[in-house]
Amino acid sequence: MSQVFRGIGVSPGIAVGKALVIEVRRPRVKREPVDPAQVPFELSRLQRGLEISRRQVLEIQERVAKEVGPQYARIFDAHLLILEDRWLVEQAGAIIQGQRVNAEYAVQEVLEPVRQALSRVEDGYLRERRTDLDDVGDRLLRNLLGQRESFHMEGMRGEAVLFAHDLSPSDTAQLQRDAVVGLVTETGGRTSHSAIMARSLELPAVVGVEEVCAHARDHETVILDGTEGLVILAPDRETLTRYHARKQQLEYVGRALHKLGGLPAETQDGYRVRVTANIEFPAELPAVRAHGAEGVGLYRTEFLYLNRPELPTEEEHFAVYRAVAAEMHPRPTVIRTLDFGGDKLASAIQLAAEENPSLGLRAIRLCLHRPDMFRTQLRAILRASAFGTLRIMYPMISGVAELRAANVILEGVKAELRCQGIAFDPEIQVGAMIEIPSAAVTADLLAREVDFFSVGTNDLIQYALAIDRINEQVAYLYEPLHPAVLRMLRGVVSAAHNEGIWISMCGEMASDPLHGLLLLGLGFDELSMTPGAIPLMKRIIRSVTYGQAAEVAQCLFGCATAQEVERLLLQEMRARFPEYFAGDGWTGAEGRPGFP
Ligand code: PEP
Ligand code: MG
Repeated sequence: MSQVFRGIGVSPGIAVGKALVIEVRRPRVKREPVDPAQVPFELSRLQRGLEISRRQVLEIQERVAKEVGPQYARIFDAHLLILEDRWLVEQAGAIIQGQRVNAEYAVQEVLEPVRQALSRVEDGYLRERRTDLDDVGDRLLRNLLGQRESFHMEGMRGEAVLFAHDLSPSDTAQLQRDAVVGLVTETGGRTSHSAIMARSLELPAVVGVEEVCAHARDHETVILDGTEGLVILAPDRETLTRYHARKQQLEYVGRALHKLGGLPAETQDGYRVRVTANIEFPAELPAVRAHGAEGVGLYRTEFLYLNRPELPTEEEHFAVYRAVAAEMHPRPTVIRTLDFGGDKLASAIQLAAEENPSLGLRAIRLCLHRPDMFRTQLRAILRASAFGTLRIMYPMISGVAELRAANVILEGVKAELRCQGIAFDPEIQVGAMIEIPSAAVTADLLAREVDFFSVGTNDLIQYALAIDRINEQVAYLYEPLHPAVLRMLRGVVSAAHNEGIWISMCGEMASDPLHGLLLLGLGFDELSMTPGAIPLMKRIIRSVTYGQAAEVAQCLFGCATAQEVERLLLQEMRARFPEYFAGDGWTGAEGRPGFP
């Protein structure tokens, strides 16, 4: 029986393969009494187990640094610290000697109380450390027991779709790229470890798929749609054929589109749009360039703050921003200042529990609340601006007062750098994200005080339609094409252009090719999207005149509901681009979740 599960598509693309359900089974350890004469042997086994584990972690760390990026490899520092801790060896050694037992039992006796204590604490950082302790503790136990890693993929060359409750950093790092074609996890969100890794490895992935592991069977055929966030177990023949066709079409289109990468996103009558990429960490830059991005339109800097007990230093920020600036040069990079709070949390920033976190102390509000933290990041961005074209963007600006408060701090930092004789780009552009309805409504006022706008539709839609963007229950009401959203977009573009500033869209709405003509016709100067979406967006822009796109956009304003808009838009896109939008595989208006 075919079953369909919905989750969060965090890495686009379609995978058709065989399920491999990873039971993250904890190694089972027995208490084995040993002769007194055997005690030294157990002690040396303990040392050896620690040494092998340490070597394995170092190897993984090196591989991750090379394939994913050095920041990500830092996660494994915590594992090394645990393995190298004298306390662990001494305590386990004392148990082996005192109780005359086997090394694995002694290790378990030492780690178990720590695990239990960490599970009880409220503090998010310490709770996260339990995952590290489990991860590295299980590795040590497996090595002592002579067992292999928690999963292996023999005989599944190029066809395994992994299912796991969660994937630890070392699980993800162990993935054999030639064996795995997709990832599904029951937990996680867009910024979870597995999501970030999957994107950088360009592996289609869906996370947050509740209860899926209980239903997936090893070696059963599955379809994973990382763009739509869908997982189909045991698909019927018709669905399988449809997805095979869609996958082939995407691959074919991808190859054909790839050739467009180097061309500008210019309409037939010469209207230029800048097509840029959204990134979360610098290791994505090769993909950004390969897909033909003309810059980075949104660099989400939250990643720098994850998985660590302390805040990143100015030097750490600076090193990363300078590398990005230099690598993208002469193309511009928009660095968004810290956007924590809401659903994005960092261990180093202790926030009080909030009733409504997405309406709480987050993003620019948090930065204004913690000017020390904000200044560190701004200083680093400014210093790095001497090495390429950087732009600063504030998230979640709600109005002019907040923008001015942020600018006062920025000007203070600039003055400080000038006094210290430290170089920075004095012309650095500063922009505001438009993602709160109050900002959209007062865009005319904001536009006088910034160099650019970037519309964050992920939040703008959530706040304008009162739909929690991560709540599955109301996902059917999360409508980018709601007439209210379209009216806001039109207003914001016109406010920007009336004041002579440029405007971008960096929310996910700009990554959906269905919206290409609409956004072009609305007059956006830049569209920033997931790198994989760039070639098709260029293709769409290059095949029309600006007037044609404006006419399409204008027509949509006559519709009263999002469904009407979507139907009309899909009809238009199908007529113009049958090769991309035709066929049942395209989940346009009919394929999306509807009203109950
Ligand atoms: C947005 O809200 O559209 C956006 C781009 O920011 P984020 O998704 O990081 O909140
Ligand atoms: Mg946002």
